[in-house]
Amino acid sequence: MNEKNIASHNASPSPDSVSPALTPMEEALQEAQKAGKRGEVPVGAVLLGPTGELLARSGNRIVELKDPTAHAEILVLREGASKFGSERLLECDLYVTLEPCTMCAGAISFARIRRLYFGADDPKGGGVENGVRFFDQPTCHHRPDVYGGICAQEASHLLKDFFAARRGDPRA
Ligand SMILES: [Zn+2]
Repeated sequence: MNEKNIASHNASPSPDSVSPALTPMEEALQEAQKAGKRGEVPVGAVLLGPTGELLARSGNRIVELKDPTAHAEILVLREGASKFGSERLLECDLYVTLEPCTMCAGAISFARIRRLYFGADDPKGGGVENGVRFFDQPTCHHRPDVYGGICAQEASHLLKDFFAARRGDPRA
C-alpha cells in the first residue's frame, strides 16, 4: 500500500464521532456498493476539501440520470466545486475505487485536484496508468499526485461480482 498518512496522528481528532471512522476509500467503496445495487457499474468516489472535510460522495449514476458522463468522479467534482465555491478545487483530494477513465482524468486535471487516490487498475477503460495516460501528455496542464492500488482488491471484487451476476442474468 502506498497510502500516505491520510489520518496523521493528532492532526485532526474526529470531533463528531467516537466510532472508528471509515477511511475515505472505504467510504468510496460504500458508494460503489450502493451504485451496484442501483444497477450501475459499481464505482464510487469521495472528494475531500483542503482540511480533509467531506465535500461530496457519489457512485456512478449513468443509468439513473441517462447521462453518459455521470461517472462517480464527475458527480463529486460538480457537487464539490459547487460547495467549495470555485471551479478550481485547489488543495482538494479525490478518492475513487477504479482508475479514472480519460474523461474523468481530464476533469480531475481541469479541477486542479491535489491528490488522486484510486483503487483497482482498469486496463480496459483507464486513462491514468493505462490507455492514453492523460496526465503524462503535454496537453495536460495540471497533474495531481497519483496513488493507485488503494483497497484495490475490494474494489475489483465488487466489479467482478457485478459483471458475473449480470452475465448470469438473462435480463441483463
Ligand atoms: Zn470516468
